[in-house]
Parts: sequence; C-alpha cells; structure tokens
Amino acid sequence: MTYDVVVAGAGPVGLMVAGELALRGVRVLAVERLAEPDLTIKAGAINVPTAEALDRRGLLPQLRAAQEAVLELMGFAGRQLPRPAGHFGGIWLSSDDLDPSFAADRGPAAQVAMLSQAEIERILAEHATARGAAIRRGTALTGFTQNPDRVRVELGDETIECGWLVGCDGGRSLVRKLAGFDFPGTDPIITGHQAIVEMSGAESLRRGWNVTGTGVYVHGPIPGRVLTVEFDGPPIDRDAPITAAELQASIRHTSGVDVTVQRVLSATRFTDNARQATTYRAGRVLLAGDAAHVHSPFGGQGLNLGIGDAMNLGWKLAAEIQGWAPAGLLDSYTTERHPIGAWVLDWTRAQIAIMKPEPYARALRGVLADLAGTEDGATYLAASVAGLRQRYDLGGEDPRVGRSAPEIVLADGSRLADHLHGGAGVLIGTGQLSAGQLSAGQLEVVAGDVPGMLVRPDGIVAWVEGDGDLGEALRRWFGSTVVETVAV
Ligand SMILES: Cc1cc2nc3c(=O)[nH]c(=O)nc-3n(C[C@H](O)[C@H](O)[C@H](O)COP(=O)(O)OP(=O)(O)OC[C@H]3O[C@@H](n4cnc5c(N)ncnc54)[C@H](O)[C@@H]3O)c2cc1C
Repeated sequence: MTYDVVVAGAGPVGLMVAGELALRGVRVLAVERLAEPDLTIKAGAINVPTAEALDRRGLLPQLRAAQEAVLELMGFAGRQLPRPAGHFGGIWLSSDDLDPSFAADRGPAAQVAMLSQAEIERILAEHATARGAAIRRGTALTGFTQNPDRVRVELGDETIECGWLVGCDGGRSLVRKLAGFDFPGTDPIITGHQAIVEMSGAESLRRGWNVTGTGVYVHGPIPGRVLTVEFDGPPIDRDAPITAAELQASIRHTSGVDVTVQRVLSATRFTDNARQATTYRAGRVLLAGDAAHVHSPFGGQGLNLGIGDAMNLGWKLAAEIQGWAPAGLLDSYTTERHPIGAWVLDWTRAQIAIMKPEPYARALRGVLADLAGTEDGATYLAASVAGLRQRYDLGGEDPRVGRSAPEIVLADGSRLADHLHGGAGVLIGTGQLSAGQLSAGQLEVVAGDVPGMLVRPDGIVAWVEGDGDLGEALRRWFGSTVVETVAV
C-alpha cells in the first residue's frame, strides 16, 4: 500500500489528523506504538472549538451520548445542565456572572463539554477508520529521513515511503527531536498526579478545588477522582509506575488528611514543563498536538489545542497533496496556530503562578478571585477557558473573520455545520450563487436567505459580505480556479 501521509501517534490529535486527511481521500496511515488504546484518566472536558470541530464532522450525536454517560456517573443523568463556566487555577466561575450574550451565537455543540479523553479517542478512531484511514497499533516510528520529494519512515525493520510525515507522537515526540525542531520554553517546578482510586478516609477530603498551604488537591467530580499538585520540583522519574503509596503520600501532603489508598484504578503523573516548537513545519515533516507544545493541564487546554491544530492542518495538507493549495497555504498552519499555542502556554503558567503555596501568590489569587466575581472578569475568563476568544489574524474589519463560524440555520432547516461534514469549505449567501466543477472536497456553494459568508473547511470565517473582496478571499484560500467557477 502506498501512503501520501504517515501520522506518528494515534492519540486524539493523530486520530483527528488521520480523519481529516482520509475525509478528503488522502491515503493516510497512522502508526501507534501502543497495542491497545490508552484508557488512562487524562482530559475530562472539551472546549467549544473542539465540540464545534467534531460537530462539523457529523459527530455531535456521539459526543452527546458520551457526555450523557459521564453525567450518569456523576449522578446527573437526563438533566440538561448549563455548560460549566470553568475555572482559572481553581477560582471557579459562575455562569450567573457572565454577560447575558455569552456564547449566544454558538450552536448546540457548545452544550457539550464533559467527556473523557478515552471516549473522544474512541469516537475519533471510529470516524477516521470509517473514512478510510489505516491505523496500525503496536507499531512505533523508530526513525525517518526526508528529501525534497519524499519521506522514508522507519518502523523497526520496515520502511515506508510517503510524501509527508505528521508527528503527533506526544510531548516527548521522537519526530520533533529527529527533525531538529527548536523547542524553547520554561522548566517545570511542580509534580502533579491525577488518579481514580479506592481509598478510605475520603469523607474528610473537601470536594472540588482546594488550594492549601502545601499545594493543591482536587476531589471529584466522579467518584474516587483526585488530582494533586506539589511545588517541590518535577518528578524524578516520569516513567516509574505510579503506586498507591505515592498517591497516598501526595494526597496526605497536599490535603493534610490521612487517607489510605487501597487501589489505583487509573493514574497519571504530570508537570508544568512549558515549551513550544518555534515552527510546526520542517520540509515535509509537520508537528501537531503535544508534539508541538507542552504545558501543564490546568484549564484543560492541551487536547483542545491539538484538535485545533489538526482541524487547521488537515485540509491544508490535503490541498497541498491534491495540488490545489494556493501559495503559502500550508505555511499558514504555523502562522495561525503558533500564537494560539503560545497563549495557552502563558494561560497555564499564570495558573501555576497563583496556585503556589506562598503569600505573594495567595495575595494575587485574592485579587483575581474578586475580579472573577465581576461580569467583565468572569466573562473574560470563561470565554478564554471555553476557547471563544480564539481568532486568527486573517485581516478584515469584521470581528467574525478569523473566528469559528457562528451557528447558522438555513430556510430548509439545515445548519451550516451540516454542510461542513464532507470536509469542503462553504460559501453561503443571498446572491444568485452557482458552482461549476469544483475539485472534490474544495467548496460547497449554498444559496440561502442569509448574508454572504465564506467559511473555510476548518469552520473558520474567511470573508463576510460587506467586508473585503470575495474573489480575493476565494483565491487566497481555495486558489484561482475556484474564482472562475463560482459566480456570485
Ligand atoms: C492529568 C491530565 C489532565 C488533562 N486534562 C485535559 C483537559 O481537561 N482538557 C484538555 O484539553 N487536555 C487535557 N490534558 C492534555 C491532553 O491529555 C493532551 O494534551 C493530549 O493527550 C495530547 O494529545 P496528542 O495526541 O497530541 O498526544 P498524546 O495523547 O500523548 O498521544 C501521542 C500518541 O503517540 C504515541 N507515540 C509516541 N511515540 C510514538 C512513536 N515513536 N511511534 C508511534 N506512536 C508513538 C503514544 O503512544 C500516544 O498514543 C490533560 C493531560 C493530563 C496529563
């Protein structure tokens, strides 16, 4: 079998990249060193851009079902919960404090937030496979070489030739190291644990987030879930198995409660190493997800950031491979995604700064808690957590340009998101629109009784009526042929 692209790593981001490429008919192989999916407890929530991305690929029903299962576990089955407003370093935000217009232009995907990383990976694996991506588990990338035309990927004794390699192989990415990407940033100061355990004495632990004199501990919301943060430096050995004794000591240290941990059901260790590749492309090698950026998990941003990378990269790389990419399209992947990644690194650093068990941090935390209780403060923080402030600098005056498209329902009852399921961009509007023979998966032209809007395949608004020239926008994102074949 010949592949256009090999994706190293089938975590959430590798699976999303593979799905995005396969959706457009690109021959893609994802190799994953683990023989079975990793069910370790990690991300427990998604933000709005991630939910919208999956909605735009037809996966909203699966997301809702997965969230329902989590709510059942939490004892809220069948109840319509408002989307949680989130927290900043454990300072909880109340949805009652938010600007009444908060997220008002978002659609039903914005109501989905609570689901586990393992479930997201299951949904993405099914989706990618159904679209034709090949996923080989139990197969590690061990090396590669590239020349201007091809990449030779080594999988142990086997070699595969392909056009492109995408490194989605996580924070300690071999692809990143072998390709020589610079990875500057700040060194870690914490050791964190997240686990689901069976323990006695838990009734004395306070539920929710607790910043104490010795660190942080979080108890709940699902039974047996604990998260601890200690500020005594990074773990000595990130790979050592996590024992009941280690978790027990950490919970006791941060909470002062003498729990006894009997059994570890799932556990992960993390730190706050915050680094980012200076570019996400080196020739025919690209990085996405944790391979491109690492940071602490506070505020639940990592998986979301990686899904955003995948959504941005997928259609651009497919366009490059299929020969219709306008000049500079693929490099706009770094230009657009790097600033979002840099923002996330700082967002997580700021939370570490206010969680430190020392008087200056405690004072700053108090100030921020006051601000978080105001409408402007709560709205700013909640919009940041939810990913609603993300915008690519695409030029243009209209504030919608560069942002995730708003919810639009057409006269026939279809939603804009429905028209994005096939992976094409969408030109929607009131004028007499007609489409000629556009390349498969490039652009769908939808006449509708709404103001004109050009939406890229990743759901980002590229043009709105009354703000700039449509022809220019079409040329910029879809190439010259599209302008000739779309009559507006
Ligand atoms: C405690 C904790 C809580 C978190 N909570 C959240 C949250 O609430 N929200 C959020 O958005 N994010 C959260 N995150 C972050 C999130 O888990 C990561 O950002 C996300 O897993 C990154 O996905 P990825 O696909 O880039 O990398 P990974 O998930 O690390 O996947 C990389 C994959 O590559 C494979 N691999 C590695 N090397 C090779 C190789 N040489 N060949 C083949 N395969 C290879 C690995 O086995 C792995 O499956 C949390 C993380 C932790 C630790």
